[in-house]
Amino acid sequence: AAVLPPELAAEKWRVLKATFGFDAFRPGQEPVVDALLAGRDVLAVMPTGAGKSLCYQAPALTKGGLAVVVSPLIALMDDQVAGLRLNGVCAEAIHSGRSREDNVASWRRVASGEARFVYMAPERLMTERMLGALGRLPVSLIAIDEAHCISQWGHSFRAEYLTLGRLREALPGAPIAALTATADDGTRADILDKLFGGRAQVFVSGFDRPNIAISVTEKADVGTAIERFVAARPGLSGVIYRISRKKVEETAARLQAAGVRAFAYHAGMEASERAAAQETFLAESGVVMVATVAFGMGIDKSDVRYVLHGDAPGSLEAYYQEIGRAGRDGAPAEALMFYGLEDVRTRRRFIDEQDSDPERKRVEARRLDALVGFCETISCRRQALLAYFGEASGPCGNCDTCLDPPEVVDGTRDARLLLSLVAATGERFGAAHIVALAVGHLSETVTARGHDRLPGFAKGADRPAAEWRGVVRQLVALGALKVEVGAYGGLTLTERGGRILDGAEGVTLAKPREKRRERRRMT
Ligand code: ADP
Ligand code: ZN
Repeated sequence: AAVLPPELAAEKWRVLKATFGFDAFRPGQEPVVDALLAGRDVLAVMPTGAGKSLCYQAPALTKGGLAVVVSPLIALMDDQVAGLRLNGVCAEAIHSGRSREDNVASWRRVASGEARFVYMAPERLMTERMLGALGRLPVSLIAIDEAHCISQWGHSFRAEYLTLGRLREALPGAPIAALTATADDGTRADILDKLFGGRAQVFVSGFDRPNIAISVTEKADVGTAIERFVAARPGLSGVIYRISRKKVEETAARLQAAGVRAFAYHAGMEASERAAAQETFLAESGVVMVATVAFGMGIDKSDVRYVLHGDAPGSLEAYYQEIGRAGRDGAPAEALMFYGLEDVRTRRRFIDEQDSDPERKRVEARRLDALVGFCETISCRRQALLAYFGEASGPCGNCDTCLDPPEVVDGTRDARLLLSLVAATGERFGAAHIVALAVGHLSETVTARGHDRLPGFAKGADRPAAEWRGVVRQLVALGALKVEVGAYGGLTLTERGGRILDGAEGVTLAKPREKRRERRRMT
């Protein structure tokens, strides 16, 4: 961490209190502020609402001089300027949404030294003229908001952001702060590379929401499971995410029939109907929203007590955003996900059917793999989730794996049985078929193909199919099996799967959860 001269440190606290009216920094803010005060370039990754703006505004005011802020959207610039002015700070935005006269007047206040912040879009900043003019002013800090826009990996690439790659050289005197809420590895590395030639300090923080109890459980008769979950929490507000409009409607209808005040919400509904549902949800408590991903943008309801995923989300980014709608008031809240391999298959199909380039599809497939890994992890879920966003932490004590740690067993034999069945059937069949072979379930498909004569057939008959499905999922999560895209979601062996099958590598597996829970209940 950066060590500051005492006057600078004192001024930093004075600014925090006098200008912003805050008594303390939030977790993660101070290290970013200090690094910038020490003159270092910084990439700060924090989720929405964590307080990114303060990270560059406080050091800019502490140092004095002018701060140049790059922002992709007029609305964002105007918001920030309004916020600073409310705190008594002279700030200006120069953009195409204002008249020429207004922009000229703003520039005068910037050039005269009166303004402490100037906001503009990258295309305006990266002209020779603007860079030249700024070069003659005491620029003390440059901030790049929504920095992920520079990355083609991210979800909101803006070609104008690429020109910012020249910024480090064009204004060499001032530290650059790049800020973003989007944090996956690829995007982060890309930002670092494009903006800083790889050289900047990276800070990731604020992703932890310790009041949300996280659990993930196998999907079996999810309709009943959802109904029970909701019935056990009468009068509480909750959000239930489902993968499709059809499932949203089914689930909402079922809950309504059970007497729950539930509403459906998806993009296929009339806008007025959706708005009415949303308003009721926001205004009242005890309302359950059953929704597709269409629901949630900008929803700020503090007392949502649970977020339930009836199907696996598309990525850990989406999952994190969605569960983040629970427990904003800081009181205990729950996030429960039901997932099964069929969800993974559906998601793979979504990716495959998308109209995008192969590279993009590969990136999304990798994100899906990370989600499967999270669902099957045998260590703390929160730790796994935070690690994905680059934030280090210890076991949380508030997730299913912490509260009820899975027992692990040597699963090498089980793994080899399944892998041998996948190999022997030509890597064309899905989990259901492979599991049927393991337990020795005779069916038309099995006998017609002679699969009942395979050496592995019925070798796992001593255990229920559900357990074998768990083994398949873990093998997918471990990267030993892959769910292929395409109609049947066939399983194929990976290199690792091959090594396990050859006996070159062993595997540790978790014992199935259901069984443990039953045993617990009995004891
Ligand atoms: P982000 O840009 O990360 O979404 P903002 O910068 O808009 O978040 O900050 C979110 C809210 O948190 C704002 O209302 C801001 O005033 C508040 N905030 C930021 N830092 C602090 C702090 N140290 N103490 C209290 N409130 C803070
Ligand atoms: Zn935990």
